[in-house]
Amino acid sequence: MKRLVILGGGESGIGTAILGKKQGFEVFVSDFGKIKPKYLDVLKDYEIEWEDGGHTEAKILNADLVMKSPGIPDKAPLIKKLVEAGVSVISEIEFAARYTKAILVGITGSNGKTTTTMLVAHMLKQAGLKSVAAGNIGDSFAKWVAVDDQDYYALEISSFQLDGIERFAPNIAILTNITPDHLDRYEYKFENYIRSKFRIAENQTEDDYLIYDADDAVITEWLEQHPVRSQLMPFSISQKLKKGAYYAQEEINIITDDTTMTMSTKNLAIKGVHNTKNAMAASTASKLLSIRKTTIRESLEGFQGVEHRLEQVLKINNVSYINDSKATNVNATFYALDSMNAPTVWIVGGVDKGNDYKDLFPLVNEKVKAIICLGVDNAKLMHHFSGMVETIVETQSMSEAVKIAYKLTGKGDNVLLSPACASFDLFENYEDRGRQFKEAVRNL
Ligand code: ADP
Repeated sequence: MKRLVILGGGESGIGTAILGKKQGFEVFVSDFGKIKPKYLDVLKDYEIEWEDGGHTEAKILNADLVMKSPGIPDKAPLIKKLVEAGVSVISEIEFAARYTKAILVGITGSNGKTTTTMLVAHMLKQAGLKSVAAGNIGDSFAKWVAVDDQDYYALEISSFQLDGIERFAPNIAILTNITPDHLDRYEYKFENYIRSKFRIAENQTEDDYLIYDADDAVITEWLEQHPVRSQLMPFSISQKLKKGAYYAQEEINIITDDTTMTMSTKNLAIKGVHNTKNAMAASTASKLLSIRKTTIRESLEGFQGVEHRLEQVLKINNVSYINDSKATNVNATFYALDSMNAPTVWIVGGVDKGNDYKDLFPLVNEKVKAIICLGVDNAKLMHHFSGMVETIVETQSMSEAVKIAYKLTGKGDNVLLSPACASFDLFENYEDRGRQFKEAVRNL
């Protein structure tokens, strides 16, 4: 019996454990921290051996195969030891993909992964196909494969998951965009991060597709220098394309070998240039899977977006309150500001990840009437943006921030929470930050 060791007892670890057990491996789960009670119950149900609060090397180094959770860096000493010993260390998507015959749509990129994944999943569902969204969303891919295998998966895939692949090859890959992120895990070299993202296409063949943003110079330059085997399906908002998808005169056009489909962006439920891109990427994937045009159109009209991503919370005195708490980097906030169609009171801040705010200056000049800085790194924000707007204030409390915003708005304005920063200074995570914002708005 082969020994499968799983490092990390979170969602992906537990899913892998169940699948490993069903596939006849001797499974051992080891977590450096605490495994949550709900996961311990699963391990007990499946009679899987586990430990937490540390790693017992003797029980790990004898593995035939190791699945490492995405949170554990490759440079961790234990991982180095395993690699030196010649043990293959893989990620959950690599493991799960080995045991399903389903059609896989793999979605990666710096921003827009969740939105695009949910949109693809929505289209698959609307088409009546047995399908789910998985990966970084909801239940793990491995768990689905183990307990209720599907015909189609829309998989949100992080670069950390891609770092642990060997043979994984999605039938359709979507690369939404590439901007610097998570560089601490890539020796502070942007190139390493780009290479990691492109691994989504590494094992694809001529039968597979790569859908990507043709307006993203990082992507196109890399592709020129590192050709892939898969068929290229670019999308663009600035140039007319013969194949793939493009935007022109308020319409998106999707062109695959067999047909062309057109739809007005006015009918898209999700707004903003970035969402037009996400819609084009998802529609191209669906078209390649032969989903009918009417189904794709209806899906785009019905899909309301994902919580905490430019989410419309409430209108009070004709002022719109918008929750974009998931904008944890400058690029995401850029698109949020870009999509504002009225004077905006902008709530920004949190843990600054070495942000360069320069790209936002023109948009702030054009759209923002007041700025409320909320978080530990307010000083930097105050320094960069004072002088650009009439009012700039700072606070360390969400309810305070929302109350100030309320006072600063007039009819027709927007209040936008789009922090461009991480959330763990004042909040548990971005969801907590978004929920606190919504609660404060409802309490106004
Ligand atoms: P991810 O899963 O990659 O973090 P999300 O769909 O959760 O992406 O969106 C994260 C943030 O990025 C949100 O603030 C959202 O408004 C913004 N965003 C969504 N799609 C794009 C895109 N294509 N380009 C840039 N920003 C985007």
